[in-house]
Amino acid sequence: MADDPHVCVRCNQPVVVNREMYEVFERMHWVCFHFEFEHGEHDPDVGCADPSCPMGATRINYLRDLGFEIRSQAEAATKYARNNLEDGFAQGVARGYYVVLSLMLDQANAFAIPPDSLRLEGLDPERDLL
Ligand SMILES: [Zn+2]
Ligand SMILES: [Zn+2]
Repeated sequence: MADDPHVCVRCNQPVVVNREMYEVFERMHWVCFHFEFEHGEHDPDVGCADPSCPMGATRINYLRDLGFEIRSQAEAATKYARNNLEDGFAQGVARGYYVVLSLMLDQANAFAIPPDSLRLEGLDPERDLL
């Protein structure tokens, strides 16, 4: 890395991602730029008012709300489909929710994200959504 000019002036680590923004970010990582110029007096371990703040809770809140909303809709769609077996469209909608929530739980497991942090605790798609 000695001849690589893309070294962050704040943390002295190589800049690999966002290289095209190296000069824009004052020769820093984006996260270093954020903490240097945008995060203000906030403790670095706490999110600031910037919605893109890497310590912010926006994304976490989004995922929690999304998990709750999609689970609620899936359970309602499944209940409706079970009570209206002749309704092929309702069966398809319920099956779609089953596929999506199964994928969400599989991905959460792959990323070691606890299901309760997504408001999906106790959900068994095979049992609850088929
Ligand atoms: Zn840096
Ligand atoms: Zn911030």
